[in-house]
Amino acid sequence: MAKQTVLIVGGGAAGFFTAANLDASKFHTILLEQSSDVLQKVRISGGGRCNVTHSCFDPSALVQFYPRGNRELRSVFSRFQPQDTIQWFSQRGVVLKTEKDGRIFPQTNSSETIIDVLKKQAALNGTEIKLQHRVLSITPEEGRYTVQTSQGNFWADCIVYTPGSIPKSLKILQDLSFSTVAPVPSLFTFNISHPLLEQLPGTSFPNAQLSIPEFKSKEQGPLLITHWGLSGPAILKISAWKARELFAADYRFTLHVNFLAEPFAQVQQHFVLQKQSSPKKLMGATKPAALTQRFWSRVLDLCGIDPTQQIGTVKTPALEKLTALLTQCKLEVVGKSTNKDEFVTAGGVDLKEIDFRTMESKRYPNFFLAGEILNIDGITGGFNFQACWSEAFVIAMELNARF
Ligand SMILES: Cc1cc2nc3c(=O)[nH]c(=O)nc-3n(C[C@H](O)[C@H](O)[C@H](O)COP(=O)(O)OP(=O)(O)OC[C@H]3O[C@@H](n4cnc5c(N)ncnc54)[C@H](O)[C@@H]3O)c2cc1C
Repeated sequence: MAKQTVLIVGGGAAGFFTAANLDASKFHTILLEQSSDVLQKVRISGGGRCNVTHSCFDPSALVQFYPRGNRELRSVFSRFQPQDTIQWFSQRGVVLKTEKDGRIFPQTNSSETIIDVLKKQAALNGTEIKLQHRVLSITPEEGRYTVQTSQGNFWADCIVYTPGSIPKSLKILQDLSFSTVAPVPSLFTFNISHPLLEQLPGTSFPNAQLSIPEFKSKEQGPLLITHWGLSGPAILKISAWKARELFAADYRFTLHVNFLAEPFAQVQQHFVLQKQSSPKKLMGATKPAALTQRFWSRVLDLCGIDPTQQIGTVKTPALEKLTALLTQCKLEVVGKSTNKDEFVTAGGVDLKEIDFRTMESKRYPNFFLAGEILNIDGITGGFNFQACWSEAFVIAMELNARF
C-alpha cells in the first residue's frame, strides 16, 4: 500500500509528539511550521527547565487538574497518562525526576533535552520539517485536503492540526464551520496595590486560603508577593478555574486572603494563650511560624501595634484587628500580569467538534486536532504538556491502526 501523506500544522509539543509516534513505514509526514524554529514554547517552558508532566497516575484524579476538558480527557488519559510519558522519554534515554510538589522535569533541568529527543524521534520517523511555511487555509477535496501555505500548496490524506492558540489558526477552522469558544488568558497573577504587600516581593506563605466570593471560588496553596501583587500556585489555580469570569470582570474584583489557612477563632486563641502564658513576650516575637519576620512587622505596623510592646498589654480589639488582617484580609484586584513560567489560553475549538476516542474531527474524516487549539487547559504543573502528549499519542496510534 502506498504511503499516506500526513500534514502536521504546527511544530509545537502536540505536533512533534504526533510525528514522533507515527509509523514511518505507513506515512510520509510533513510538518509545517510558520516561524523559523520549532518547539519554541517547549524551550521557554518551566523557566527553561520544561515541566514535562506531573506525578499523578490515576486518570480520574488527573482530569481534576483541567478547568476545561476534564470530562473529555478521561478516555484520552486512560490510553496515555503521565506514567506512559515517563516511560516514553526514558525508553529514549531521557531521565525524568519528580520534585516535592509533584512536578516532573528532565534530570538535566534543561528543556533542550526534551527538544532534542522530540526532534530526533521525528527525524527517525522521516518527518519532513518545513520552516517558515504558514498555513493560510485548508480545503477538503474528494477525500483529501489541499493546504494553502505562505510558500505554496500541499496535498494531504490526513491533517493533524496542532497550531497552538493563535487566533488566526482558529479562524482557519471557523472558515471550515468548526464551532469555537472565544479565547481568554489563563494562568496569570493578580495586580494589587495595598500597603500590606508593598516592598515585600519574594515574601511567600506556604499555605494560604484564597476566595473570590463574587465567583464562589476557593483555593488553597502556596502564595507569593510580587512587585505587582500576588502570585504563586494558589493564585494561578484560581486564575485558571475562573479564567472566564475574571475576564468578564475586566480583572477587577475583591480577593479574600487567609495567610495562615487557619480559622479566625483558632488564630485568636493562639494570641490569647500567649497573652496568658507569656504576658511579657514582645509582640515582635509572637509571629505565627508560617509568616516571615518582615511580613509580621508590616502587619503590626498596619494594626498600630509597637513590636516592643508586651503582648499582655495589647488590648483585645487590637489583637482582633491583627487576627482579621491575617485571616480575613480583603484585597482589591485591579488587573492581571503574565506569569512568566507558564501561561495558556482557555478557549479554542469547541470540544463537541471532537471524537475523543480518536481526536478526530466529527465534521471531517482524517482531520485530527490536539494541543492548545482545543478548548482544553490545565492548571500549572506539567498538565498542559501532558494533555498535548496524550492527545498526540492517541492520534498517532489511531493513524497507525487505520492505515
Ligand atoms: C512561558 C510558557 C511556559 C510554559 N511552561 C509549561 C510547562 O513547564 N509545562 C506545561 O505543561 N506547560 C507549559 N506551558 C504551556 C505549554 O507550553 C502549551 O500548553 C503547549 O506548548 C501547547 O502546545 P501546542 O503544540 O498545542 O502549541 P504550541 O506549542 O503553541 O505550538 C504550535 C506551533 O504551531 C505554529 N503555528 C501556529 N499557527 C500556524 C500556522 N498557521 N501555520 C504553521 N504553523 C503554525 C506555531 O508557530 C507553533 O510553533 C507553558 C507556556 C508558556 C507560554
